[in-house]
Amino acid sequence: MIQPIKTCTLTILTLLFFFQSAYASVVKDEQSIVHEMKLESMGKRILIVVPHPDDETLATGGLIQRALQSGKKVRLLMLTNGDGFRLAAANLSGTPSPRPEHYKLLGEQRQTELLRATAKLGLSKNQVRFLGFPDAGLHLLWREYWNEDTKLCSRTGHTECPYDISVAAKAPYTGQQLVKLMVAEISRFRPTDVFYPDTEDSHNDHWAAGAFTRYVLRKHKHKVQEWSYLVHYPDWPHSQTCGSASVLPVPGKDRMWSTNWHSLRLSETEVSVKALALDEHRSQMQIMPDFLRSFIRTNELYKKIEC
Ligand SMILES: [Zn+2]
Repeated sequence: MIQPIKTCTLTILTLLFFFQSAYASVVKDEQSIVHEMKLESMGKRILIVVPHPDDETLATGGLIQRALQSGKKVRLLMLTNGDGFRLAAANLSGTPSPRPEHYKLLGEQRQTELLRATAKLGLSKNQVRFLGFPDAGLHLLWREYWNEDTKLCSRTGHTECPYDISVAAKAPYTGQQLVKLMVAEISRFRPTDVFYPDTEDSHNDHWAAGAFTRYVLRKHKHKVQEWSYLVHYPDWPHSQTCGSASVLPVPGKDRMWSTNWHSLRLSETEVSVKALALDEHRSQMQIMPDFLRSFIRTNELYKKIEC
């Protein structure tokens, strides 16, 4: 006869075995949806569409280094100068209520920071194209300020691009104008692969940047490989204290869970250079260093977009 205590132990062991098996299955499932990213499967011309200075380093700092080392041509298309970030403008101006000129100064500073960061990654100035459209306004251009006769007023107080360093000086802030400029840049560069923010990103400028890019690629039938990247998503990256030795995990267990993620494994040198580039974004590192550093990992994640 089996004693009750032994029956109980047996039950616990059985349950433990069941949960361990279930856990192992989940981990396997998680790993199985992440493919190893190989640059050999890409073409030779890579365009990266970037909403704000710092996103290029956070999401593609390793990719840029690897692509350049592989002999590919890389170009960044900077949609905004990050000139609408109130906290950063307040920090720069020393006043809690920054004025329009402070926002423009911030935009100019972030252009400088971006060029320093991308130089660390291996890019020259002429590989970076600034459009100078309004930060915190891309979703408004998409939804409300589409037509040429309805210009958006940026936090800099301008309704046209006011920056000297720009391929679009005096360009009016409308959705149609942004599309025209993006079409011109894509036609000129003729990319084989385009990276852009995922339309599921929770930041308004990011999903809107993704929406504009997809619209341009579809409308003008550019035949390219498309990849998306994520910067803002609830509770992700999971831990901001994991450090540079940890893996960037696939976000969430909802709709993002089942998508076609690819992981680019970075070398120790690539991780170190990425961290150095990130340090150049000083106006941002002063405000949210933990969040930014949480992207310094041993890999980067990209979603392959099936057209
Ligand atoms: Zn951003």
